[in-house]
Amino acid sequence: MTKQSPPIAIAIHGGAGTIVREQMSLGLQSEIEQALSDAAQAGYKVLADGGDALDATVEAVKVLENCPHFNAGHGSVLTHDEMVEMDASVMHGRKRDAGAVAGVKYVANPIMLARDVMLHSPHVMLLGEGAQAFAKSLDYQFVEQDYFFTERRYEQLQSMKEKGLFALSESRYPDDKKYGTVGAVALDMDGNLAAATSTGGVTNKKFGRVGDTAIIGAGTFAENSTVAVSTTGMGEYFIRQTVASDVAARMRYLDEPMSVSCDTIIHGELKEMGGEGGLIAMDSQGQHHFSMNSSGMYRAVITPSGDLEVSIYAT
Ligand code: ASP
Repeated sequence: MTKQSPPIAIAIHGGAGTIVREQMSLGLQSEIEQALSDAAQAGYKVLADGGDALDATVEAVKVLENCPHFNAGHGSVLTHDEMVEMDASVMHGRKRDAGAVAGVKYVANPIMLARDVMLHSPHVMLLGEGAQAFAKSLDYQFVEQDYFFTERRYEQLQSMKEKGLFALSESRYPDDKKYGTVGAVALDMDGNLAAATSTGGVTNKKFGRVGDTAIIGAGTFAENSTVAVSTTGMGEYFIRQTVASDVAARMRYLDEPMSVSCDTIIHGELKEMGGEGGLIAMDSQGQHHFSMNSSGMYRAVITPSGDLEVSIYAT
């Protein structure tokens, strides 16, 4: 009898929001689908080579950070002051180790810095100038703000400024709330779950605003016995609802199936508060669940049987 190899799997997202078929050109859609597929495969390769779940999530997120279509790294949205300030976090499920950065301005891949905070500092979260100094101590190459600048994000910012909105949306139109934060969850051969999330935040943000993506328990959570979760949506609500760790808590204390915990939060309490968005989750068997209360979420999965699925719309 051949011994069955342990399951491995990865799921990723590129943000949730009002993603409408009629507003999406075929060209853009196929570029986005390609990037999602590339990201999932980059992460899966790490897992298939026997690598750690956290490294798999970081590899997948890096691909999306480098793609201008997503609100993270290169394609980050702009602050009120026309700058990019990025947040990112990671969590490893074995010992619940975690790392996070907030308000980072000159690092091309903040997700790598978040992992380095976890691995090479005694802290969990580093902020702004301090995070930059930490990056420097590890010999990171800094990039100019110009690297992050895209015409699309500049137009979105101008439109938000004209409307006088604090604009908790990256979108061009107030009703058209696209987010575009990126994240990944994975299960490796050793049974480790991990989660990683990275974002430019929300367009026109002011005063050093930090969202859920930098906050362990809100935007990112992983614990081997229950679940790994990465979220996307209006961060203020996800923080107040501690969405990511609440999924794990419901599974742990109520013994709920993962999908029930996710949907109860996303379609119930979060939605009632006014929080739009979604999450990706993976359990210790490599089963995944996508949950969203918006019309779409860019997402992909490679299941334990090795099948790749890429989707955008909720239905
Ligand atoms: N959650 C992110 C934030 O509030 C936004 C997003 O998901 O796109 O910063």
